[in-house]
Amino acid sequence: MTNLQNPKSHYTTENFPKQYQEPPGLQTQMSPKPDCGETSYVGSGRLKGRKALVTGGDSGIGRAAAIAYAREGADVALNYLPEEQPDADEVKKLIEAEGQKAVLIPGDLSDESFCKELVEQAHSELGGLDLLALVAGKQQAVESILDLPTEQLEKTFQINVYSLYWTVKAALPHLPEGASIITTSSVEGFDPNPILLDYAATKFAIIGFTKALSKQLADKGIRVNSVAPGPIWTPLQISGGQPQENIPEFGKSTPATPIGRAGQPIELSATYVFLASTDSSYVTGQIYGITGGMPTV
Ligand code: NAD
Ligand code: MG
Repeated sequence: MTNLQNPKSHYTTENFPKQYQEPPGLQTQMSPKPDCGETSYVGSGRLKGRKALVTGGDSGIGRAAAIAYAREGADVALNYLPEEQPDADEVKKLIEAEGQKAVLIPGDLSDESFCKELVEQAHSELGGLDLLALVAGKQQAVESILDLPTEQLEKTFQINVYSLYWTVKAALPHLPEGASIITTSSVEGFDPNPILLDYAATKFAIIGFTKALSKQLADKGIRVNSVAPGPIWTPLQISGGQPQENIPEFGKSTPATPIGRAGQPIELSATYVFLASTDSSYVTGQIYGITGGMPTV
């Protein structure tokens, strides 16, 4: 027996069927369903006793992080939008199956007062807080700047960028030495797609926020890093993140990756765990690309 696998064929290479859902979309209704490690992620006690808040924890990359955190021994609070309750219920069951606590806190991150309530509730129900995995995000493709509504521009910045400031501000008084903050940027924060003018700019902003905050919080013993995914098969993409014509060859040619396929959320799990754990004790202010080979320079 060997673990040796060709990364090109490690996960599905089939074309995806076109499928549209209203945003934010439900993972339970996707075909094929993203692989978030539900049946495969194996923990080894690397986050024993930790208390994590994961935004966007119902589906996609956030779900993969939440499952991995629970299997590594953490209790987990999940944030998501109320219409994503069926996805969140599945994650809750998976966390509880590990004997860990799952706290579900639906609500809208574009509202500053909700961000404060989210942090306070997570802290009080978990009995502490030492890990923020800020994964939630909004992405709506628009061909021309002339058609980009101001409402979308504002919401995308509020959810993707402002909520990081609001959540970290509320959490900081609770975070002990050794805590970890992980943001979620993107390959779009390095090489922006012309149809993601607002979204790509938020991902550049997240990288700046992460690097500056890491310098500010190092003295407190808190590390701040970011994960920059490439094209990953999640609800974000089929609910307007890409035009439907990009869905079949997503990650193959739209966009083209050297690995030649879309990534699955589980392929990010180990990095969210690494950046949360003491294994990364000398790592802060870094942006970890998981992009199928798309450049992050
Ligand atoms: P996803 O749809 O599974 O997750 C996005 C989540 O954001 C949703 O589940 C939802 O709960 C949350 N969200 C959106 N608006 C919100 C709001 N107003 N209030 C609270 N929560 C809200 O998709 P995903 O691809 O796993 O996205 C996770 C992160 O990864 C995002 O930040 C996204 O920008 C980033 N990312 C994704 C890709 C990709 O190809 N899928 C690539 C690069 C970066
Ligand atoms: Mg979701």
